[in-house]
Amino acid sequence: MGNAPPTPILDDHLHLDPVNGRGVEAAEDFAAVGGTHLLALNKPSWHYGVDVADADDFRVAFEHALDVTRGATAVLPGRAWAVLGVHPALVSRLTERGFSPEEARDLMQKGLNVAAEYVASGEALALKSGRPHYEVSDPVWEASNGVMRHAFSLGADHDCAVQLHTEGGEEFTDVAQWAADAGMARHRVVKHYAAGRVAGPTPSVLADKDELLRAVEAGEPFMMETDFIDDPERPGAVLGPKTVPRRSAWLHEQGHETALETAHVDTPHHVYGIDTKATLE
Ligand SMILES: [Zn+2]
Repeated sequence: MGNAPPTPILDDHLHLDPVNGRGVEAAEDFAAVGGTHLLALNKPSWHYGVDVADADDFRVAFEHALDVTRGATAVLPGRAWAVLGVHPALVSRLTERGFSPEEARDLMQKGLNVAAEYVASGEALALKSGRPHYEVSDPVWEASNGVMRHAFSLGADHDCAVQLHTEGGEEFTDVAQWAADAGMARHRVVKHYAAGRVAGPTPSVLADKDELLRAVEAGEPFMMETDFIDDPERPGAVLGPKTVPRRSAWLHEQGHETALETAHVDTPHHVYGIDTKATLE
């Protein structure tokens, strides 16, 4: 690297937990190995001991995410942005507590409305929604799709991207079409925890070497992420915060400069409207 100016390196999806985890320290680890920008996702409310019952209950987790995002920005050569939303697994927690699937859907949609308020005020960059990655009953599946479609209508209203947590797979053309039906541009739907190729949304590829090479070979827009969960109870459950910078250095050694520009500059700009070069010190 020498005296060369730093180039942007963005982790598109990780969690920083200022209460139970390492919080800003994890962002320092990321920066120490060349990371410059990150998108911090709120943890689900239950990680903070909150059993949501009305819309305002979602604010606890959102405020923690906004706090730690400001702290991360202070230690990064670039900056951090917050992405706020409602975890799809909440539907199961609510139905276990006696909510009908429709009642669960309604509350989750209200949580997304609160998240969208932070987008409207400029405090958050984008929304997060989705549907369970595990088997659920048909009514719960329908309710979850209703939550996700609501997120798309909010994305259209607020002109922001929507990250999705969904089941695995690579074929999500129908979901992207729902976003288009709601008035969103399809490319602003981001499949988080994605494989190297995804049909429909923009993939945010888990920083696994094989999947990254598939994304490079596809030559399509993509981003990179760790989904670091910042949970001291589950060390090694996911990739650590240094992984995206390290995998980026590995791609650089192999001459994949165009792909790195795609992942860290062009796609983030196209999807979120952010400029990772102009925001680099
Ligand atoms: Zn996550």
